[in-house]
Amino acid sequence: MANNPWQRRIARADELAARYATAAELLRLYAAIARFQADFYHELATQPQKLAPNSNPFATPLGREVASAFRRFLPVVEQHAPAKLREAARALAARDDDSHLQLLSAFWQANETLASETDAFFVRAYLQPYVAALRERANLRYSGPTAFVCPFCQRKPGLGVLRPLGEGSQRSLICSFCLAEWEFRRILCPACGEEDPAKLAVYTAEELRHVRVEACDSCKCYIKTVDLTKSGLGEPVVDEIASVALDLWAQTQGYSKLQVNLLRL
Ligand SMILES: [Zn+2]
Ligand SMILES: [Zn+2]
Repeated sequence: MANNPWQRRIARADELAARYATAAELLRLYAAIARFQADFYHELATQPQKLAPNSNPFATPLGREVASAFRRFLPVVEQHAPAKLREAARALAARDDDSHLQLLSAFWQANETLASETDAFFVRAYLQPYVAALRERANLRYSGPTAFVCPFCQRKPGLGVLRPLGEGSQRSLICSFCLAEWEFRRILCPACGEEDPAKLAVYTAEELRHVRVEACDSCKCYIKTVDLTKSGLGEPVVDEIASVALDLWAQTQGYSKLQVNLLRL
């Protein structure tokens, strides 16, 4: 169990929800979503015929069998989300299967901006285990030039992570959709490519000191990075959500987030 990343994220979300009142509601919603994701992932792993063909899965429309669990996902959000999302979940549940498949396919074929923000939230969270399973099967080992978008699914990174390496640390980025992780230079803005250290600022707060805002004064974008050299117990995706106070702060400073996280923050 402990080696399954979905289970680790659920456990971490439960733990941080108990510790940080400010993010507790968000983390409980995340944990509920992650429980669904863990089950869906397991289902896909044990029925590989549900996965798309090997070559370029993003060029292939989504099959009905991939969309079929969407109806099971909507009540999860309805039970745990704040009022607005709850209503959206109910409205989506009232739509027919064809319209669900259309919505999922539009996101899948990278028309992310076509769907409304709220629709994108449902679709990203639902398809995440599916795209992660495809990525794992592809066994991607990326070693090309510095990638500003995910080498597997071409989405923007959602967060950064610093992992211990020798005496120091190595930075990598984590995909906002398929959760791929790829190496990325420490002093380089993942939004615009700025390399001047004087324009790249790092901020931390008292609470959750191992999470930092990495902001760029050239493009006014920021991304949050979870420093695992300071907290080996962190689960990057979850700790990124828990540090919502840093997002609010960064936004008051005039920075915009490169890519909203799973919970649209
Ligand atoms: Zn990806
Ligand atoms: Zn920049």
